[in-house]
Amino acid sequence: MKPLGEPAEAAVVIGRFQPFHNGHLALVNRALLAGKWCVVIVGSSQESRTDRNPFTAGERIEMIAGALGEADRERLIVLPVPDLNDEPRWAQLVQREVLDALTERGVERPSIVLVGHFKDPSSDYLRAFPEWPLVHAEPVDDAQGSALHATDLRERYFDLPRAEALASFVGLMPSTTLDFLRRWQNTSVPDLLDMPTDFDRVLAVVAHPDDLEYGASAAVAMWTDAGKTVSYLLISRGEAGIDGIEPSECGRLRAAEQVAAAACVGVDTVEFLDHRDGTIENTVALRRDIAGAIRRHRPQLIVTLNHEDTWFGVRWNSPDHRNTGRAVLDAVGDAGNRWIHPEQIGGMVEPWDGVRWVAISGAANPTHAMAIEPGLERAIASLEAHATYLEALGGPMADARSFLTGMAQATGERFGGRLATSFKLFGEV
Ligand SMILES: [Zn+2]
Repeated sequence: MKPLGEPAEAAVVIGRFQPFHNGHLALVNRALLAGKWCVVIVGSSQESRTDRNPFTAGERIEMIAGALGEADRERLIVLPVPDLNDEPRWAQLVQREVLDALTERGVERPSIVLVGHFKDPSSDYLRAFPEWPLVHAEPVDDAQGSALHATDLRERYFDLPRAEALASFVGLMPSTTLDFLRRWQNTSVPDLLDMPTDFDRVLAVVAHPDDLEYGASAAVAMWTDAGKTVSYLLISRGEAGIDGIEPSECGRLRAAEQVAAAACVGVDTVEFLDHRDGTIENTVALRRDIAGAIRRHRPQLIVTLNHEDTWFGVRWNSPDHRNTGRAVLDAVGDAGNRWIHPEQIGGMVEPWDGVRWVAISGAANPTHAMAIEPGLERAIASLEAHATYLEALGGPMADARSFLTGMAQATGERFGGRLATSFKLFGEV
């Protein structure tokens, strides 16, 4: 470590600050001690908003400057620098920006040090500046005693209910960052995009009766109204879904409820693959069955249910949903390739590579939405058609009207205030 004493002209801190947390603040404070000027390089400055880069360079500068007192802010220079694939070129760019900024402030031939956590392997890029002496700053720990990382904070911010995430950040970031994140949630969550409309056949593939009725069936009502053909493919009959009814009886009841639910939203083709409810695996056999249905129905759009590990980061998803969604995404490729499951090809069945999108209903990070108000009543009726199941289920998810209306209103907050249902769309987006 460079001894304190004569400070350098400038001390440089490099980071992405997505978001700016107490570990970053410690580096900046160390740099304010080590240099007359503290120069903060804000990396990835050119990127548009993504999960990894949710905050613009301007927003990150606001977080950094906001965390400092006025006197410190006068010695702060913040320089946004874009990513370059070529590290030596990027390092040259950083050096030039720093020197230019110091020259502008009348500092010629400056002595410069670099402040960072040099034991952290993710900080290897700091070694791209061999001519700048290093000043080591200790990392700041999180509540569990491991080094605080912005990635963990971002995951919590986007996956947990917002209030819960913000509460867990107290002590891990400056209060000014917390204030920023509290404001940001209301202003900057990007609007959902319009679902495509230029298709005429839809195949909806889900594990269980009722999986389509918690959101997607409102969209189905809108599509059938618009003259599109929608077919349902159920991997199981949901026969393990009700504790008090043994499977053969339960499967019969729930399949009948599913057919009635489909009819409410204009769907009269409902097929069942009869994989076993509760132990659906993403196997070649399942992919073959789904690919066969895709080849027969020839959809441009496929709908399925959330296949991620969790529901919104807080509740573990069921293996049936995980395996079904993944098998659907995999089977789209199978269906277009005549050499995969070739025994299906022949007669009326040809390979089908015309699937343009797979839309995931119930995704934690949806990308698209559609307005569903004219279809909402029929969607409520379609969920209520699962009468035996809802009676056994109980709780808020059994109240079809309030559950679906509440969900449509919440989605509408990111879709111009209209009642809406959302999807994460894979494919041509
Ligand atoms: Zn299910």
